[in-house]
Amino acid sequence: MATATIIDGKDFAARLRAAIAVQVADLKKAHHLTPGLAVVLVGDDLASQVYVRNKGIQAQEAGMNSFDHRLPTTVTAAELLEKINQLNQDPAVHGILVQLPLPKHIDADAVIDAIAVAKDVDGFHPYNAGLLAVGGAGMVPCTPVGCLMLLKHQLGKLAGLRAVVLGRSNIVGKPMAALLLREHCTVTIAHSRTHDLAEECRRADIVIAAVGKPQMVKGDWLKPGATVIDVGINRITAPDGKNRLVGDVDFDSAVQVAGAITPVPGGVGPMTIACLLLNTLTAACRQRGIPVPEVQPAAE
Ligand code: NDP
Repeated sequence: MATATIIDGKDFAARLRAAIAVQVADLKKAHHLTPGLAVVLVGDDLASQVYVRNKGIQAQEAGMNSFDHRLPTTVTAAELLEKINQLNQDPAVHGILVQLPLPKHIDADAVIDAIAVAKDVDGFHPYNAGLLAVGGAGMVPCTPVGCLMLLKHQLGKLAGLRAVVLGRSNIVGKPMAALLLREHCTVTIAHSRTHDLAEECRRADIVIAAVGKPQMVKGDWLKPGATVIDVGINRITAPDGKNRLVGDVDFDSAVQVAGAITPVPGGVGPMTIACLLLNTLTAACRQRGIPVPEVQPAAE
């Protein structure tokens, strides 16, 4: 039986980060500009600490300044907003990211709204979401940007292809659908109220799975040869009792039917941080009125 091409997001992301590092070195030399990324972490959630540490390390490896701001779970909304306000004013900071989720007593929407639009490297601010919807040049959320890069690398032009996006969150599903529409795909957005998810998937040349349900998309949901991008990150206990990470796609059955598929881990995940660095580079250039460089991943 045919098996799909495995889309190696880890390798692609490493090559993208290498290309970003070259551009950062050029910016320093030509414009005395070092892009700066500030990451704000509230509380002591272990997974969030790991993400934040990785973001800082990878920003520094790309030659950027990384500013780490850790606040206790007991921080008040007013104190957090004051921190954001300081970062908005700080000329060394070009990108601000507040690690989600936030503690329940803090309104995450109000915090995202407080980030300066130009420094919103996560692309979650409603103004940036609006720019994406109308085709403007704003900041686009990192995970969908990474998915689109992998898709274009795999398929070349996407115009005319049928794409289904499973999930409609503001972070992944909606911006992903907007990006695919921009690439002239025919886009369906499916969600928990969709009547026949499997049938929607079977019609699609491209399936993006972003539902947060372990191994939900089965091989027999797919059109033979479809390209499958698995955004999901789910921790499960395997039959052998060990914990492991799986996506929203049942990889073992999907790989028999798809034309190409991203693995979990090693697919979309590494692209998210690489695209965060790309957004920080873009933000720094725009804030200084420097043309934004075209960044192509280093050669394979
Ligand atoms: P959300 O929980 O915010 O959204 C999930 C979406 O999936 C919702 O729109 C929901 O529909 C839909 N959904 C849930 N259950 C079903 C179902 N049974 N059938 C159809 N649709 C369903 O999740 P996120 O968008 O934030 O994340 C999705 C996944 O991607 C998660 O596993 C997350 O960990 C992962 N992720 C990975 C990233 C990476 O870097 N690789 C980055 C961000 C997220 P409805 O709106 O109707 O409730």
